[in-house]
Amino acid sequence: MLDSPIDEIKNRLDIVDVVGSYVKLQKTGANYRAPCPFHSDKKPSFFVSPSRQIWHCFGCGKGGDIFAFIREIEGVEFGDALKILAQRAGVELKREDPKIKTERKRLFEICELSCQFFEKQLEKSENGKKAKEYLLKRGLKEETIKKWRLGYAPNNWRSLSDFLVGKGYTREEVLKAGLSLKSEKKENYYDRFRGRIMFPVFNITSQVIGFGGRVFEEVKKNDEGGKYINISNTLLYDKSRTLYGLNMANLEIRRKDFCILVEGYMDAIMVNQSGFENVVAASGTGLTEYQLRILKRYSDNLFTAFDMDVAGDSATKRGIDLAQSLGFNIKVITMPEDLDPADVVLKDIKLWEDLVKNAKTIHDFYFEKVLKDFNRDTIEGKKEIAKTILPIIKNIPNKIEQTLWVKDLSEILNVKEEDVFEELKKIPTSQNFKLEDNKIEEEIDKNIKEPFYVSSKTKKDTLQEYLITLFLKFPQLASCLKEEDLRLFSSQYLQIIKTMTSPQNANYLDKNLENNIKNLIDMLSFRAEVMEIDPGINLEKEFQYCLKEIKVLNIKDKLNEIGFKIREAEGQNNSSQIQKLMEDFNSYSKIKNDLETS
Ligand SMILES: [Zn+2]
Repeated sequence: MLDSPIDEIKNRLDIVDVVGSYVKLQKTGANYRAPCPFHSDKKPSFFVSPSRQIWHCFGCGKGGDIFAFIREIEGVEFGDALKILAQRAGVELKREDPKIKTERKRLFEICELSCQFFEKQLEKSENGKKAKEYLLKRGLKEETIKKWRLGYAPNNWRSLSDFLVGKGYTREEVLKAGLSLKSEKKENYYDRFRGRIMFPVFNITSQVIGFGGRVFEEVKKNDEGGKYINISNTLLYDKSRTLYGLNMANLEIRRKDFCILVEGYMDAIMVNQSGFENVVAASGTGLTEYQLRILKRYSDNLFTAFDMDVAGDSATKRGIDLAQSLGFNIKVITMPEDLDPADVVLKDIKLWEDLVKNAKTIHDFYFEKVLKDFNRDTIEGKKEIAKTILPIIKNIPNKIEQTLWVKDLSEILNVKEEDVFEELKKIPTSQNFKLEDNKIEEEIDKNIKEPFYVSSKTKKDTLQEYLITLFLKFPQLASCLKEEDLRLFSSQYLQIIKTMTSPQNANYLDKNLENNIKNLIDMLSFRAEVMEIDPGINLEKEFQYCLKEIKVLNIKDKLNEIGFKIREAEGQNNSSQIQKLMEDFNSYSKIKNDLETS
C-alpha cells in the first residue's frame, strides 16, 4: 500500500527544521530545547526530539508531531496544517475533483499571481523602481519589502488584467477577485490599481486574499482615487474580518500577551520591522466584533496606538467601546502630536519603547482627557463629562470595574455615587453591542480553528506519569516496585509499565499497541531523557513518596464512593446498610490517616 500523504510528509520533513523555523532551538544532548512558544515560560521547558520526531512542553503539557505543532503555532485546523506542510515537503495532495475546484481556489490563484506580478513590477519596471526608492526612503528595509511582499501596480489601464487573462483566467474572474472594475456603458474592464504601491493582505496562513494600494509622491498627480484604496469585499476578502499583519503577529501576540493595534498598513509594517512584532492594523475604519473576537483568541490585552476621539461617536471610539464590552484590557499609547507609529519607530525607537511602557489604562486615558477638555467646576462642564463617561461605564461588563469608574466619576464631579448610579440607569445599552456570540464564534471556527488542547489530566495521572518517567530514567528502581503496587495504576499506565518491563517487549514501537499508548510511551521516554534530577535527591524515597500519594488518592476515591452510597442508603432509610458503610468509611479513613502521617 502506498504511504498516506501524512506519512509521506513526515518522511520528508524533519521536526527540528519545521519547529526551528518558528522557534529558536538550542541543542542539548540528542534533543533541542527552547522557551515554550505556547505559554509564558521562564526556563525553557519546550523540547524537540529528532529521534522520535515529536515535541513536548513539560511546562504546559502541549505536545505532538509536526502537524500538532503547525496547528498550534499557526492557529489552524488540521486540513490547513496538512496543506502548509505538504507545500513545504513538496508533497502533492490528491487533486480535487475539477468540478469542485472552486471559484475560491481560482481566486486564491489570481491573488497569488497578482502579488507576484506586483512584486516583479516593483523590482523591474521604471516607475516600480521609483516606488521602491520611495519605500526605502520611508525607512523600510529591503528584507521588509520582501517579507510583506510589497509591489507596484503599473500606471496602465489593463496590464494586470491582461497578464491574468494570459494565464488562463477570465476578465469576470479578475473582477470577482476585486482587482478590476467594469465601466457601466461599454462592457469594459480595467485595473482597479494603477500607479500604486501595492500591499497584499494575507489570511492567517499567509495566503494573499486581497490588496491595498497607496499612491506615492511621483505619480500622485495622475491619481483619481484616495491616498489609499482597498479592494472591495470578495469571496476571500472581507474588510470587516481582516486584521492586517495578523499572520506575522499571532505568535508574538501570544508570547507577549498583548497586541498593539495601529491604524495603517505602513504603521504595522514599520512597527513590526522595529522589533515589535505583536502589531496588527485594522484595515479600514473601526474595529468590528469579528476582528476583536479573533484577537481575543491570542490575548486579552489590547494596546491602541492611534488618535482617539473620546467624545462623539467616531468609528474608532465605537471599536474601542466594543473591545471594552468584550472584556479586553485596553491601554492607550499616546502618540506625540502629528506623529504616527511609523514615524516614531523610525525616528526614535527608545521613545517608542517608552510610549508603549507608559501606555495609559483606558480608565486613566478617558478621565485625563475629559478633565482636559471640560471644566469640571461649571455645571455645563460636569454635564459634558458625565455625558462622555457614562456611556463608557455602561459598557463595562465587569461590575467591580464598573463600580470603580462610578466612584471616580462621582469624585471628579463632586457628587454622590448613588446619583451617578441613578444617571447610569438612564443610559441605554448601546445597540451596537448585540453580541451574537455563537454565530460569530462558529464562523471564526470555520476560518481559524483554535486547536489548543487543555490538559485534562488528573493529579493521579500526573503522579503516575512522573513515576513511570523516574522508572524509565532509573531502571534500577524496578526493584522498588512490588507486585501489589501494580494494582495502584490505571489500566493505560499499567499497560505501559508491563510493556516497558518485560524484555520481549523492549521494542515497543513494533508491538501491536494502540496509538495513544504508543504516543504516551514516546512522550514519557522523551521526558525521562530530558528530565533533570537534582543529584542530591534520594530516588528510592521519591519513588516511595509518589506511590504513597497515589495510594492516598485511591483511598480518597474510595471514600467518595462510600460517601455516595451512604447518602443513597439514607434516602432509603436502610439503617443496617448505613451502619456497614459507616464502618467501611471509618476503616478507610484510618488507612488514609495512617498513610498521610507515615
Ligand atoms: Zn508550554
